Amino acid sequence: MSASRVLVLNSGSSSLKYQLLDMRERSRLAVGLVERIGERTSRLRHTCLTSGDTRERSGPIADHDAALKAVAEELDQDGVGLDSPELAAIGHRVVHGGMFFTEPTVVDDEVLAEIERLIPVAPLHNPANLTGIRTARALRPDLPQVAVFDTAFHTTMPESAARYAIDPKIADRHRIRRYGFHGTSHAYVSRETARLLGKDPSEVNVIVLHLGNGASASAVEKGRCVETSMGMTPLEGLVMGTRSGDLDPAVIFHLARVGGMSMEEIDTLLNKRSGLFGLCGDNDMREIRRRIDDGDKEAQLAFDIYVHRLKKYIGAYCAVLGRVDAVAFTAGVGENASTVREAAVAGLEQLGLVVDGELNAAHGDGPRLISPAHARVAVAVVPTDEELEIATQTYELVAKND
Ligand code: ADP
Repeated sequence: MSASRVLVLNSGSSSLKYQLLDMRERSRLAVGLVERIGERTSRLRHTCLTSGDTRERSGPIADHDAALKAVAEELDQDGVGLDSPELAAIGHRVVHGGMFFTEPTVVDDEVLAEIERLIPVAPLHNPANLTGIRTARALRPDLPQVAVFDTAFHTTMPESAARYAIDPKIADRHRIRRYGFHGTSHAYVSRETARLLGKDPSEVNVIVLHLGNGASASAVEKGRCVETSMGMTPLEGLVMGTRSGDLDPAVIFHLARVGGMSMEEIDTLLNKRSGLFGLCGDNDMREIRRRIDDGDKEAQLAFDIYVHRLKKYIGAYCAVLGRVDAVAFTAGVGENASTVREAAVAGLEQLGLVVDGELNAAHGDGPRLISPAHARVAVAVVPTDEELEIATQTYELVAKND
């Protein structure tokens, strides 16, 4: 295949993030973000990585169609426009692929219809993802558009991990099961961790801890995901920036019956006003650490609850995997917060988990080990790169079909 560029689009309800990559060089040509689409204060920030130039536009951008056209103009200005014969495909992040999409998929009408059918289980994300695909398709109908699903990596989970303990007839009727999210990141990081150990992914068992604003853990056995902490939606599991993670489901009945809250209010409480933010009013780990250093008890408790849950999942996934070769920390908190990494494995020596204080505190860009040389389990910091993974999966699929 002669064309080597892939445009990666990540469409949110009011935003459009994009990156243009050259897959032959494995390099980034441009990155950018359109924010507040549909408002009067929309903003586009574009960086051309070959020249280092950053340009900004502000003013109303009415919809995703207008946003993508503005992005196309910016790319044109850098000489890497969407009509270039060098562009091989557009790769789209799609949050929910249900059980149907186990791999990256070239978009056609049937694929669009299936993504649409999944809207009831992903009401916040799939509509925006669909809009992004439709807009890109209208702009370049001749170009392969590839959907890369956040859930796909987790479709290898056994039924024992994927099913909730409820009536299967009800579960199936409403597509209730554990799908898991952040799959692109878990796939990339587990593979990069194997590479860091000098092994093939099929030879190692890895626990991946993706700790960003959203957070999830996964247990990856010989390259295949066997368990993950997010469930039917990204609300289950770890304590997150603004989401509660695990909770007794009866809390919801209690808030409705005794607290008099509506379903909408409970939804907002658990998704947007819980987690670190709900506990202490901040969801940025840097600010929380600063407050702890100043002796703030509320911030300390939020940190402790966050770390306790994390440790519980590490222990659980050691049990699920039986043998663990590596634990990898990734995303904003995982890559940067040495205090979280240290606290999460403190006291787990019996499980073979130890962190070297100096290695953990040292800054670094690429994947690196933070456990001592003799450790039974490698503990690593492995930066995630979801855009590169989406571009790689898109490019490989298009090259295979070529
Ligand atoms: P998302 O993609 O889910 O929005 P990121 O992976 O970018 O999130 O992570 C964002 C979070 O990472 C921030 O909210 C903050 O808590 C944390 N973070 C970023 N940089 C640092 C840092 N230097 N130290 C500690 N935490 C950090």
